[in-house]
Amino acid sequence: MMNPADPILPGALADATEKALAEAEIRLPADVLAAIERAAAAERDTVARRELENILENIALAGERRVPICQDTGVPVVYLTLPPDVPFTPDLFDAVREGVRRATASIPLRPNVVDPLTRENTGDNTGEGMPAIHVVPGDRFEVTVLPKGAGSENTSRIGMLLPSQAGEIPKFVAETMLIAGGKPCPPVFLGVGIGGTFDMAAALAKEALLLPVDTMDAYEQELCDAVNALGIGPMGLGGDTTALAVKVKRADCHTASLPVAVNVQCWACRRATVEVRR
Ligand code: SF4
Repeated sequence: MMNPADPILPGALADATEKALAEAEIRLPADVLAAIERAAAAERDTVARRELENILENIALAGERRVPICQDTGVPVVYLTLPPDVPFTPDLFDAVREGVRRATASIPLRPNVVDPLTRENTGDNTGEGMPAIHVVPGDRFEVTVLPKGAGSENTSRIGMLLPSQAGEIPKFVAETMLIAGGKPCPPVFLGVGIGGTFDMAAALAKEALLLPVDTMDAYEQELCDAVNALGIGPMGLGGDTTALAVKVKRADCHTASLPVAVNVQCWACRRATVEVRR
């Protein structure tokens, strides 16, 4: 069992958080990049194809120059995986916050975190409830980050459907994107949470964005086809590619409920996982 008072542990977690944020902000994961490349090769609309090529050039330049892929570097959403021998203590949260502060200065990240009412900026991407930290059990001590930009997050949606409306979920998902239009910088990835409770559905939708996007099951493909039939296209300028992938996570729910959440994620689906050295 690790001793939580050991200063090496929080220091290593802060280092890993800073490193994961740098990786996520500067380079897209291989499966995300491959999805954009496949879409660019398959796109039939000339303007849409050019937009996808611009996105790919943007990604390449960010990697070459070691700068963030987008000016909106998002708010830090963090998943902390704890193995059985790492005790869950407040020190771990402090270490993640320290990693975010350091990353804000070193990458650098745009300070996006503000008080929700006064709109006063904290200046370092930490604050009340920020970073958003989710703790999950696992085999390895890891930190996973999912920096979330506002353009796409703002178009996310949750609905408490009737149990008889399961067949209408594809319509709800497509309708979410229809309302969003070009605002979330499409093409998008959609994380869909089905079931659980009101809050669980939203959490599942966000977790779905951590799943690999190189495969979709038949249901995910059906949802993706429903969104692409809208023809919104890259940056809302029309085309075949509105959604690059749809990923679904489910939980059982009350017999009288059917919560459905759609977490919209722009093409800049930034995520990275770093193991904490100890
Ligand atoms: S929606 Fe995504 S690509 Fe558009 S500005 Fe926000 S982070 Fe950047």
